[in-house]
Amino acid sequence: ADAGRAPGGPRRVGVMGGTFDPIHHGHLVAASEVAHLFHLDEVLFVPAGRPYQKDLAKVAPAEDRYLMTVIATAENPQFKVSRIEVDREGPTYTIDTLRQLRSTYGPDVKLFFITGADALGAILSWQNVDELFELAHFVGCNRPGHRLTDTGLPDGKVSLVEIPALAISSTECRERVSKGEPIWYLVPDGIVRYINKTGLYLDEPSAGRTPG
Ligand code: ATP
Ligand code: MG
Repeated sequence: ADAGRAPGGPRRVGVMGGTFDPIHHGHLVAASEVAHLFHLDEVLFVPAGRPYQKDLAKVAPAEDRYLMTVIATAENPQFKVSRIEVDREGPTYTIDTLRQLRSTYGPDVKLFFITGADALGAILSWQNVDELFELAHFVGCNRPGHRLTDTGLPDGKVSLVEIPALAISSTECRERVSKGEPIWYLVPDGIVRYINKTGLYLDEPSAGRTPG
């Protein structure tokens, strides 16, 4: 059960937050790069249940986003997927997730919360920062065009890392699907097939999906 753990040290677990609507190669490269840089034993992808920052009527069902995340990470033994945000009632807050993971893993595991530098700014401005910093180390990923200039964030608690240039976003993937443009190679092959099979994103970006 200890396979891959750095000898002697505490287990190091990355927690990759996102909406994953859909998951794409930018997310996967970011997780892989942070796992390498921070010597992580595993990365747990946590699809947001009800991301409060996004227009919920336009977000694909949590179950589809969860399944796509499973499909995209299936062949990497270091990557796992958690249902905790998908199964939790109410809007999704990172602090609830980290509290829950902390109690599941116990005090001896080191948690690294990984997300885009853009999302990180929002999380750290709205939620209880002191407690967040006790629960995990924060890693913000910069993608082309989303660079954070001045973070105003305390040293030692947050790291910003440069992800190899992959200017992919879920928004662009959804728009491409809705226009009949290919998303091959922007997302894993299984995600292209899942989207084709389910018909996800076909009705975007019209006035927005009618809820219900
Ligand atoms: P959307 O376009 O719907 O906002 P997204 O591509 O930003 O989607 P999210 O699920 O919101 O995807 O992403 C989770 C986190 O991963 C975000 O904070 C985002 O900044 C980061 N991220 C997304 N794409 C990349 C990329 N190409 N390189 C590095 N980080 C990325
Ligand atoms: Mg985004």
